[in-house]
Amino acid sequence: MSHGIVTVAYIGATILFILALGGLSTQETSRRGNLYGMTGMAIALLATLFGIVSDNYVLLFVGVIIGGAIGLMLAKKVQMTQMPELVAILHSLVGLAAVLVGFANFMDHSIMLSGVEKTIHDVETYLGILIGALTFSGSVVAFLKLSARISGKPMLLPFRHWLNLGMLVLAVWLCFTFIGQSATGGGTFPLLAMTVIALLFGVHMVMAIGGADMPVVISMLNSYSGWAAAATGFMLSNDLLIVVGALVGSSGAILSYIMCRAMNRNFISVIAGGFGTAEGQTAAPGEGEETGEVVPVEAAEVADMLLQAKEVMIIPGYGMAVAQAQHVVNDITRKLRDRKINVRFGIHPVAGRMPGHMNVLLAEAKVPYDIVFELDEINDDFPNVDVSVVVGANDIVNPAAQEVPNSPIAGMPVLECWKGKTTIVLKRSMATGYAGVANPLFYKENTRMLFGDARESLGAVLKQLD
Ligand code: NDP
Repeated sequence: MSHGIVTVAYIGATILFILALGGLSTQETSRRGNLYGMTGMAIALLATLFGIVSDNYVLLFVGVIIGGAIGLMLAKKVQMTQMPELVAILHSLVGLAAVLVGFANFMDHSIMLSGVEKTIHDVETYLGILIGALTFSGSVVAFLKLSARISGKPMLLPFRHWLNLGMLVLAVWLCFTFIGQSATGGGTFPLLAMTVIALLFGVHMVMAIGGADMPVVISMLNSYSGWAAAATGFMLSNDLLIVVGALVGSSGAILSYIMCRAMNRNFISVIAGGFGTAEGQTAAPGEGEETGEVVPVEAAEVADMLLQAKEVMIIPGYGMAVAQAQHVVNDITRKLRDRKINVRFGIHPVAGRMPGHMNVLLAEAKVPYDIVFELDEINDDFPNVDVSVVVGANDIVNPAAQEVPNSPIAGMPVLECWKGKTTIVLKRSMATGYAGVANPLFYKENTRMLFGDARESLGAVLKQLD
């Protein structure tokens, strides 16, 4: 394949990736967006395989087959609830690839450069390995936290900000040392030392993040994985990888910013770690706990309340994903709408365990898009709501965010369902949510608890609506 055809294919793929990002920004066009993305990736792969790779085909295809088979198996096996951790571990692979390419590039003595070109190449290698290593270790810790293999509580080391600053200064110093030594054929030690520092920094950064701030870290690691890919593109002189990496990097950065704004967090404070917790200690999870009474209800009572309501707000959370209750939620919605009851959905930006988690589930169950609203759009409407149904949500409806100043979730906007007439909370127990914070909502006078698995409970409610 000639160089010209590869360039044209790469430009075509780039345009398709940009169209894909545009398509993914609204629910109506997201299917088309996915299709553009898949087509772009297929073109990019074919052009690279037949136009750029020139030898070692056997090794390449063995790798593609093994990697592809593992990917296929994982995609088939993974539950919807495990998607966030899968995404985290996939980010770690991008980071690892950048590190490996960086070292391979460093050890490849066939690249003969000198002067400024050599310095630029060295800086590319150094930065690629640095971003790759911290993306790798940070994503592995995020994976462990999201899959509950390690605690989601922030680990706050004493003098952690100084530690971070120290690592940064050391990394900059090692960069100069590396460039100096590389000119005379050395540089292995500073490169290895920086890799260890970057790995430690990734671990430290994500370990220090409290449960409720994890969404920002996830989108940030997404962004880093893009920059790592772009750095790999520079090392391999592959224009497409540079452009695609920059697209992922910048869209991830925008998403991080949106997440921060949605959670009323300062980006730098989140990265520095331990936002919302006192220096050197984690805020007590029990704070904000109320000792009032909890009022349990049965499915039949819930059905009655719903039938008598004019305005119903459904607030889905992570528990809806665990219970896979989205289809029964849609069935109930249809029944109520048939009776001319106005049903709407209130979606919190960090509901579930990944950006857009609830929107994906509701779209899968075919809930109409025009009754699904973002927090900003509906939070003022709660005083007019007759019944709010909280389906497996906890942190996103926790009034402690407004009422308890030293709570780990203090300042985070929440869906103010308690301002409506009645709130029904569906969950299995009195357990806390991801942030580990007690929820005073459960003890409010106008709250009723429907205990049990959300799908079973809502199935029982649905039967009563017939
Ligand atoms: P939470 O984790 O706060 O609460 C979920 C609730 O669902 C739990 O209290 C649990 O209670 C209940 N639940 C679990 N399984 C079931 C079931 N089968 N049936 C009924 N209820 C069930 O989720 P939210 O969506 O309210 O909040 C999201 C949290 O996750 C936030 O803290 C957010 O910061 C964090 N996060 C979000 C990410 C994102 O990108 N969206 C990424 C990482 C973290 P019980 O055990 O009693 O049933």
